[in-house]
Amino acid sequence: MENSCLFCRIVAGEIPATIVHRTDTTLAFRDIDPKAPTHVLVIPVAHHADVVALAADPAAAADVLAAAAEVAAIEGLTADGFRVIFNTGRHGGQEVFHVHAHVVGGAPLGPMLARS
Ligand code: 5GP
Ligand code: ZN
Repeated sequence: MENSCLFCRIVAGEIPATIVHRTDTTLAFRDIDPKAPTHVLVIPVAHHADVVALAADPAAAADVLAAAAEVAAIEGLTADGFRVIFNTGRHGGQEVFHVHAHVVGGAPLGPMLARS
C-alpha cells in the first residue's frame, strides 16, 4: 500500500467507494464521474503504477483481466459489448497512477477516439 495513492486508500477502506466485485487480488468499484451508463474501475489490490508495471506481474495482469470480464457479466454488458480501457501516461490521459481498467458500456460508445 502507498499512503499517497488514492486507489490504495480505497483498497484499505479509508476512502469510500461503491464496490461491485472483489477477489483476493482485485477490486472493482464504480467510477465517481461515469462516462457511460456503466463505468467500473478494476484494479489490482497490489500497487502497480500503470499497465506497463502490471504487465511485469503476469498473474496480477491475468487477475485484473478476468475481473474485468466478470464485472462485464455482472453488469449485463456481455451480450451487447463494452470497452476495457487502460489510460497510460501523459498522452493516454492517466490521472490516477494505480493501474485501473475502465470497464464501460450500457449504450453505444461511439468512435474509439475523440477527434480533435
Ligand atoms: P484515468 O484518467 O487515470 O484513466 O482515470 C481515473 C478515473 O478515476 C477517472 O475516471 C475518475 O473519474 C476516477 N476517480 C477519481 N477519483 C476517484 C474517487 O475518489 N473515487 C472513484 N470511485 N473514482 C475516482
Ligand atoms: Zn496504489
